[in-house]
Amino acid sequence: MIDLYGLSICSRCGRARVIDKSSKSSSCPYCGNTERTDKMVFIYECRDQETARKALGEAAGFEAPSPKEERAKKRKIEKADPYSTMIYKFENSTDLDEKMQIIAKGLTKIKGTFTIEDVAEIVGDKHAEKYVSAMMDRCYIAEVRPGQYKG
Ligand SMILES: [Zn+2]
Repeated sequence: MIDLYGLSICSRCGRARVIDKSSKSSSCPYCGNTERTDKMVFIYECRDQETARKALGEAAGFEAPSPKEERAKKRKIEKADPYSTMIYKFENSTDLDEKMQIIAKGLTKIKGTFTIEDVAEIVGDKHAEKYVSAMMDRCYIAEVRPGQYKG
C-alpha cells in the first residue's frame, strides 16, 4: 500500500498542512510557498485524506469535539432547560395563583431552596416581596431557614 497523503510543515511559515502526494508540487495556503512534493519531509503519512486531516487537526490543537464533550454540552443544555421551561410557563400563565405555583414548584425543583432574589429574577424586583408573602400565605412555600424558601 502506498501512502497517498502526508502531513508536512511548510519550510517558510512552519505551519502544518495536508499534502496530496500524488501531485508534483504543493503550495502553502498560509504563505503561498510552493514546494516540490518529492522534496518535502512528511511528519505523518497515510492512505486517505480523512485520516490526514484528522492528524492535522490534532497537530494544530484543533481536535474535533469528542463524543464525551458533546454529551457534556448536551447535558448542560438539558440542565438549563427546567429554568427556561419554568419561565415560559410563568410568562404564559394568566392566573396569578398558577404563576405562584409555577415559581414555588419550579425554583424548589431547580434550586432546592431559593431566596427572594431568585423570585425577583423572574417576577422583577418590585413584585418579588409580594409574591413571596402571597406564596407563604397560600402555603405554596415555607421559610425553611431565614431568607430561604422551599415549595
Ligand atoms: Zn507556509
